Amino acid sequence: MPDKNKIGYRPTWVEVNLKNLEHNFKIIKRRLRPETKILVTVKADAYGHGLIPVSKRLVANGVNFLGVASIDEGIKLRAAGIKIPVLILGLILKKDIIPLFTYNLTPTVCDFEFAFALNHKAAKLNKPISLHIKVDTGMGRIGVLYDGAFNLTEKIHNLKFIKIDGIFTHFPLADTNRKFTISQIKLFNKLVIDLLKRGIDIPLIHAANSIGLIDYKDSHFTLVRPGLVIYGLHPKQGLKINLKPVLSLKTRVIFIKQVPAGYGVSYGHAYITKRRTRIATLPIGYGDGYPRNLSNLAQVLIGKNKMHISGRICMDQIMVDVGRLKLKIGDEVVLIGKQGAQEITVEELARLSKTIPYEIVCGLSNRISRIYIS
Ligand SMILES: *Cc1c(COP(=O)(O)O)cnc(C)c1O
Repeated sequence: MPDKNKIGYRPTWVEVNLKNLEHNFKIIKRRLRPETKILVTVKADAYGHGLIPVSKRLVANGVNFLGVASIDEGIKLRAAGIKIPVLILGLILKKDIIPLFTYNLTPTVCDFEFAFALNHKAAKLNKPISLHIKVDTGMGRIGVLYDGAFNLTEKIHNLKFIKIDGIFTHFPLADTNRKFTISQIKLFNKLVIDLLKRGIDIPLIHAANSIGLIDYKDSHFTLVRPGLVIYGLHPKQGLKINLKPVLSLKTRVIFIKQVPAGYGVSYGHAYITKRRTRIATLPIGYGDGYPRNLSNLAQVLIGKNKMHISGRICMDQIMVDVGRLKLKIGDEVVLIGKQGAQEITVEELARLSKTIPYEIVCGLSNRISRIYIS
């Protein structure tokens, strides 16, 4: 089990099960045509799971590409010795293009000015560069508007030191609006065909995030871009897919005391004991990214029971009214994951916290050590 030296002296840690990560990757791969390539998004520290250990395990399992949000995340991959292609899904400033060449990172491009600057630098260095073009078929975020996509691609295609390796789009409503998503797939497909007719044959054509991958076979094209499902989390309820959660969040009871009935607990006394009872304190709080709006709401697994958090969550501590539960200082408490037959899922916390699973795992701060189970 977890190595104390790695956790430090505050017994709160995240366990990342890399065997489960591998399981999810294989399950997802089985849903694809054998020739479809996979880019896994490892941005935001691999959704809070740890960029380098996650990426290394995916590389060992044959992932084709990694997707990050920034040059900085890409440089971290290179510094760790990861050699496979890395696509930067976000945009960067023109003044920051040099590291793309130094670290062999692939940028996303959605305007000619940027492509021109890249071409200029590539010519100067005599080092051709690959890029992916982002097309907005209805996301309203980055990306060239659909109507301008053909012309932009054609113009970039004519730049001597640029190779268009990929073209992609993104779904805003894949979980809620099938008709809209299918219309996006059709538009995007038409663009790809028009480009082919014009002699522009782009190898990597991609649209599918996790939900696209699972619910829309026509969105697979030549590459898919899952994130969430690889971490064993569900982008919506009721999916028939055997994913295994990768991340658990654990701590240990740091203090227990007896208090009388009518005793106020934590800031604002938002919890008042109904009887003489015992209050356990846990060394974790919103300063670790555990959402404060779960105060008096979420449960934790403690002494093989599901118990509610009592009162407001503090920056570094949480209290639980444990009644007569058999318990001692140092006992393990699970905030996400399994204890015995019980489980608390990220999805459940996300619902209670009125957010999405993504935000729960990304939010776990790096004050919490990550322990890897391989
Ligand atoms: C993060 C991201 C994905 C992955 O989305 P999931 O819902 O986690 O599968 C795919 N594409 C782009 C452009 C992204 O930024």
